[in-house]
Amino acid sequence: MKIKIWRFNLKKYFLFTLTLLFFTVSAQDKPFTVVIDPGHGRNDGASRSYSDLGLVREDHVALDISLKLQKLLSKEKDIKVIMTRTTHVYPSLSQRTDLANKSSADLFISIHLNSTGTNTTQATGAETYVQGPDQNNANLEVAKRENSVIYLDEEDRRRFEHYNPNSPESLIALKIQQAKYLEKSLLIGSLIQDNLENDGQNNRGVKQKNLHVLRQNAMPSVLVETGFINNHSDASYLTSSAGQEKVANSIYRAILKYKKEIGFHPNIQPVEPEKPKEVALENDFRILILSSPTRYLEGDPALRGLKYILRIKEGDVYKYYYANTNLASIRDENLKRAKEAGFKNAAPVAFIPNIALSKGYYTIEVAVSKQRLNNNSYILKNLRDLKRTKKKGSFYYTYGNVKTFEAAVNMQKQIEAKGIINTTIEKVLE
Ligand SMILES: [Zn+2]
Repeated sequence: MKIKIWRFNLKKYFLFTLTLLFFTVSAQDKPFTVVIDPGHGRNDGASRSYSDLGLVREDHVALDISLKLQKLLSKEKDIKVIMTRTTHVYPSLSQRTDLANKSSADLFISIHLNSTGTNTTQATGAETYVQGPDQNNANLEVAKRENSVIYLDEEDRRRFEHYNPNSPESLIALKIQQAKYLEKSLLIGSLIQDNLENDGQNNRGVKQKNLHVLRQNAMPSVLVETGFINNHSDASYLTSSAGQEKVANSIYRAILKYKKEIGFHPNIQPVEPEKPKEVALENDFRILILSSPTRYLEGDPALRGLKYILRIKEGDVYKYYYANTNLASIRDENLKRAKEAGFKNAAPVAFIPNIALSKGYYTIEVAVSKQRLNNNSYILKNLRDLKRTKKKGSFYYTYGNVKTFEAAVNMQKQIEAKGIINTTIEKVLE
């Protein structure tokens, strides 16, 4: 019963994902990774002696073709090539597939030479194998064990990556991936075969076969039998430098076409045209956020977390200005930030630099107190010539008399340098 429900869901997912398969274009943030696997090694594999060619070894020829393919692919900036071997060594089949799985390769290509035992003139040409029809279950077990499913599109990754590998949902996900691997293996296989045929080789087609090296891979994988070692004509072609070059080139072009067809795009950031440099405005701009008879100090909740507040007193009202800039873009950002902080009526105000007041002056309000300051207070001892006024039951102490805003700011800085903080620039209009 369980299996029945499962199959139903699977079919649904199948249709959905197979439809997406060739239409999904997603940006990748890693290079397109191709594992090239020269078959056999260390004299393992088929071999044949010919009077004119000498001893032809499958593992040697496979390596020669693979190295030529590696060279061609290395020229591609968005392709990363991983070789299972580059010398006459013999990595185990598990080592080869482990390498491919751990590198999260996008494609696995194993290169071999065919053999039917006795010398032949009948069997000739190339054929490419994809994972066999009975291999889905074995492949599924590998994917589960390795926990290294390579999702072929972002949609599946988002949907399945957090599932427990043994949950029914994950099994469905894995089965979908198996189907996709097979679909894509068939695609690369047919592209390779087409190119080899165009280069004059007999096209024996794309076939399914239960092969360990394909079964253990969690990615689209093919095994290319480039020709028959026991056919003199094939052997002669495959041992020649020109023949090897042609085979490597056929596979190379097939990989490029495959990459294009599956919609692989490297995640290259578009180069942004350089913006013309912003010209500074003539005036400084501060954002007026609040006018109030109350004197709020920096950090007061009334200022809603905004910093860089300038407090200017005019008459009995304190005006609170946020930030300062002479760049229009930053002024607009500051205004936006002030509004976001909750000052809905915030507005930019221009401060024209170095303008002397035609009437009135700037002074610094140093202290406001219900009590008269004690003669021994820090403020009175450190600032001479303070002016004291009494208004509505409070004593206001002010210092200095300057004509420009800049001079007032400087004066305030000097007072702060003496350790007297929380002062206010006051504009007195007489
Ligand atoms: Zn082989």
